[in-house]
Amino acid sequence: MAGYHFTNVTIIDGSGAEPSKGEVLVEGTRIKALAKDGQSLPSDGAETIDGGGATLMPGLIESHAHISFCDTASLESLGDMPPEEHTLETMKYARIMLEQGFTSLFSAAAAKPRLDVVIRNAIDAGDIPGPRLRAASPELTVTGGLGDVRRSHMYRETFAICCDGADEFRKVSREMCREGVDTLKINPSGDEFVPFARAHQTVMNEQEVAAVTEVAKSRGKMSAAHARSAESVKMCLRQGVDVIYHATLCDEEALDMLEAKKDEIFVAPAIGIMYATAHGEGADWGIDKDHPVAIYFMRELEMCVENMKKLRKRGVRVLPGGDYGFAWNPIGTNARDLEHFVKLLDCTPMEAITAATKLGGEIMGMGEELGQIRAGHLADILLVDGNPLADVTILRDADKLLAIMKDGSFHKRPRAATVAAAQAAE
Ligand SMILES: [Zn+2]
Repeated sequence: MAGYHFTNVTIIDGSGAEPSKGEVLVEGTRIKALAKDGQSLPSDGAETIDGGGATLMPGLIESHAHISFCDTASLESLGDMPPEEHTLETMKYARIMLEQGFTSLFSAAAAKPRLDVVIRNAIDAGDIPGPRLRAASPELTVTGGLGDVRRSHMYRETFAICCDGADEFRKVSREMCREGVDTLKINPSGDEFVPFARAHQTVMNEQEVAAVTEVAKSRGKMSAAHARSAESVKMCLRQGVDVIYHATLCDEEALDMLEAKKDEIFVAPAIGIMYATAHGEGADWGIDKDHPVAIYFMRELEMCVENMKKLRKRGVRVLPGGDYGFAWNPIGTNARDLEHFVKLLDCTPMEAITAATKLGGEIMGMGEELGQIRAGHLADILLVDGNPLADVTILRDADKLLAIMKDGSFHKRPRAATVAAAQAAE
């Protein structure tokens, strides 16, 4: 029988339950059984993996991935990249995410229509290493919206797809479904670094949003929206958008509407990019902390923190996922969002981990089989050298990940020496 028997581990199962010493048995792609409270399991002929006292937990799940944004310093440059190089780069970033312990990604937009789709398919076929991926369309945006980097005097390729009017949004949405995306991404609000479409401005109209969700629902796809302004959040909720990104500038009415749909929708504030920009981490790329965008983001971050605390109290599912994909908020550092949840949103490390595992499984549309260490769940497993409940920042350190398993196969096998070192340090 092909399988693995993890012994001598402390299990964080992703449900929010207290950690427990125990064992986990993996057979094929799934977790066959687990034992808690120091109990053991029969090996059933499976290969024993002595965890040496390490923490065993579910693979991390990113709710706002941009593996084709390639750590760019300027959105314009994404359009300059030829599709061949861009595909190889995206493949590289998929591997980087897996190496950092992210076994699933919910994409929040690709930079070209088929990038996520072909990378997802190649990963699923076992041709390249990478996390399980829900493939997104590029950002569908209006003329003069976030993502419209075109110029009137010359041709310039963009990373978004510009549409105006419900008919154009409907047509492009249908094309994206034809090309195989899982999620349609729209930009109903602006963003502060776009001079002609600011964060508080709502630039899509309701018919345009409705056209996209109509296509998504009819084809069994999900929809996700870049929605900073309160009005854009409300419009998305009225029209049945599934994932509300940012939601930073919510007013009381928007908070009420989010709460009313708390079992249907997901909110991911994308703290990473705001935090890094506000704190001047973009200085090497011309955005130091005195830059107007950085000063603005510091204010928006404060509003975000206030609103996310309220939403969490109201039972809305708030997920880490911080728009990693830019030069000063690079791909692979995504676990930093868990730290932001702990330091800024007053989450316990356990709550942050649960949001990145159990709730991650739910946003992937696989809550019944992904995101927890449970019998019958897919075997996406990390072995961590240390206790992330004592210090959640260790999840950012790939060297602390002794083993990374996806679908019951090791991407990183625990080396006997590493495990012994962990044991010795106890
Ligand atoms: Zn994004």
